[in-house]
Amino acid sequence: MSENRKVIIIGSGPAGLTAAIYTARANLEPLLLEGEPSSTSDQPGGQLMLTTEVENYPGFPEGIMGPELMARFREQAVRFGTDVRTEKATRVDLSARPFGVWVGDPDAAEPTYTAQALIISTGARSLMLGLERENELLGHGLSTCATCDGFFFRDQHIAVVGGGDSAMEEAIFLTKFASKVTVIHRRDELRASKIMQRRAFANEKIEFLWNHVVESLEGENRLEGVTVRNVLTDERSTLPVTGLFVAIGHKPNTDLFKGQLEMEESGYLVTGLGAGATSTSVEGVFACGDVQDHVYRQAITAAGSGCQAAIDAERWLESLDD
Ligand code: NAP
Repeated sequence: MSENRKVIIIGSGPAGLTAAIYTARANLEPLLLEGEPSSTSDQPGGQLMLTTEVENYPGFPEGIMGPELMARFREQAVRFGTDVRTEKATRVDLSARPFGVWVGDPDAAEPTYTAQALIISTGARSLMLGLERENELLGHGLSTCATCDGFFFRDQHIAVVGGGDSAMEEAIFLTKFASKVTVIHRRDELRASKIMQRRAFANEKIEFLWNHVVESLEGENRLEGVTVRNVLTDERSTLPVTGLFVAIGHKPNTDLFKGQLEMEESGYLVTGLGAGATSTSVEGVFACGDVQDHVYRQAITAAGSGCQAAIDAERWLESLDD
């Protein structure tokens, strides 16, 4: 027998936990599937679990560690009665209401849960290079977010990997802090838009290392350099950088919803399709946070959209009662 709930929230980053706080305080007794522990950003707590110090979340003037911030979000959601379960949704059925949500065996005949309204906050992950020690050095010199971590690299030589708009944007932003930014790109031509290319080329602090890939990360407890390889000559050298920003793109965690919800070509969920900013292509299903935002991608904007999703879901459920 499936367990029926008014609201199920899938995902436990800032968006999902904020949606939980708001729906719990609206007496909707939300069930939140927080995911299962793993070493990637789809673990409970999301991408902030992979960061160290967070200095731009308002309300914490001294800064706060990413995992500590997420623990506090969770505590606040639980305080108001959110039923948080350390489970991962393996299948959803959005073709009829109540919606079906499976945990465990996706081929089970009956869904584990059914829900009147669903809030999706499964987030996104930064694409990584797949190097050894990446997880270990993330937050210790290795970063996927210049806005978050750039400040820690004042007057240092750092590098950015990638040749797209994200890499150019990050490199330009990082010149506010760093003494020098080396863009490491695997080809001799950028993918970034012409205007971003022009800005990057015009910036005196940015230099380009063309036709190179990062092969390994050096340093004991912190990044102290990267070994790069020239893809044309196979020659290896070491770049003595204290920071490496990986900007090779992001992937939203939307595999579960393929064929059921409208998505952009890149996989991000499309929102704002019905009443409310977080409505998706299926009535009663709302999406918030990075799973539907490839522009801002900040904890505070994710939390803000989680609040919107909760209010949208509450209003939608009320409209059913009418
Ligand atoms: P992207 O356009 O897909 O670019 C990814 C870059 O990373 C490419 O240069 C690619 O190299 C490189 N790359 C991919 N995998 C790699 C690997 N394993 N090792 C080394 N390099 C690798 O991604 P994005 O820059 O994140 O942009 C995504 C979308 O958002 C784009 O449509 C972009 O225009 C948009 N965006 C716009 C702005 C803006 O307008 N301000 C800012 C950010 C993003 P190759 O070129 O060789 O494939």
